[in-house]
Amino acid sequence: MKSTTDPKLRSFIEVSPDSHFPIQNLPYGAFRKKSGGAARLGIAIGDYVLDLSVLEEKGFFDKALNGDSFFSGEIYLNKFMNAGRAAWTAVRETVSYLLNESTADLRDNSELRDTALIPMSQIEMTIPVDIRDYTDFYSSRYHATNVGTMFRDPNNALLPNWLWVPVGYHGRASSVVISGTPIHRPNGQTRPDDNAPPVFGPCRLLDFELEMGFFIGPGNDLGKPIRLADAEDHIFGKVLVNDWSARDIQKWEYQPLGPFLSKNFATTISPWIVTLDALAPFSCDGPVQEDPAPLPYLDSGKNRSYDIHLEVHLQSENMEKATRICQSNFKYMYWNIRQQLTHHSISGCNISPGDMMASGTISGPTPDSYGSMLELTWRGSKPLTIAPEETRKFILDNDTVILTGWCQGDGYRVGFGEASGKILPAREVL
Ligand code: CA
Repeated sequence: MKSTTDPKLRSFIEVSPDSHFPIQNLPYGAFRKKSGGAARLGIAIGDYVLDLSVLEEKGFFDKALNGDSFFSGEIYLNKFMNAGRAAWTAVRETVSYLLNESTADLRDNSELRDTALIPMSQIEMTIPVDIRDYTDFYSSRYHATNVGTMFRDPNNALLPNWLWVPVGYHGRASSVVISGTPIHRPNGQTRPDDNAPPVFGPCRLLDFELEMGFFIGPGNDLGKPIRLADAEDHIFGKVLVNDWSARDIQKWEYQPLGPFLSKNFATTISPWIVTLDALAPFSCDGPVQEDPAPLPYLDSGKNRSYDIHLEVHLQSENMEKATRICQSNFKYMYWNIRQQLTHHSISGCNISPGDMMASGTISGPTPDSYGSMLELTWRGSKPLTIAPEETRKFILDNDTVILTGWCQGDGYRVGFGEASGKILPAREVL
């Protein structure tokens, strides 16, 4: 394979060292011109989007894709995601070549450049995948331990299954929204007083969860599980995920079947999907899985993860800029994405192109790395100071929560952009 991740690669498009989208990244997304028209599929490079349908129509992918068409007229990436790793790598190599500083095809063709490269200031991002199903795992040991300590037993915080089973629940795909989509505070049923009946009204303990998700490319047939060794061939790429959570609704509803309306009102994702090819140089060891070792179907001998720096920023209406409230890292996840996918399918469950699987809250070992307000403020007992005159226990109306993350290379970043969402007041529903 030609190297598309060499730190020395440069594009003829100028990219600043702190940009998330250098030529080593090349993430996929969907966008619409602010001036109008349908959504189109593209790749981010610096402050520009490369329109893949323009390149496809000009025949630049004919050799790489044997004449197959994946971008023209498509508003979602599902067809391309289903094409598999060979097609993903072929397109990546072609785009890396075309954007290289020494390749003239696009660089020296001003007419083509003007139609294929669109400044990000002229577009808005749209949801890049027709998401079929959404599953949310619970795979940070630190997070699971914090929650178990708060709500059960500090001396026995992890439930007996946790180190054996990548625990998860089936989420709601219909309410996954793109970064920038405002979200109304949910209404629901809560029981603030254990000695009184439940009440209905706006959630009072609204929270974020810092997570990352991965998208499925080719799926599996019903009854035919995905083996651990094959799992990566089914994973297209990764995004940031904010699993918005209504803690008071969750507390009253979650027994015995787990979260329901406390999670289904909105889930925010970042708009650019970063491929595993782009993340390969940032592969790193994950937590040791020896005590106990995973059961054989989940055991590849070594736990490999990715070194992805993650941050959460919070901004109220009164603040001129957001305050960072959390710094974490994807490498803290106990179960890796291959184990999550394999476990999900091992029953015979069929996974489809466009399915999304999220990690669970990515908390690290230190209090400033906790990935939710629940943990950062320890159930509201230690409010966060976010500005000289402002503190928070949970998220208030008109607050904006911004997730961001990147892999730090030598002089460049392979980043995910942002997953941002503003909370609007609850709607009157009665
Ligand atoms: Ca979650």
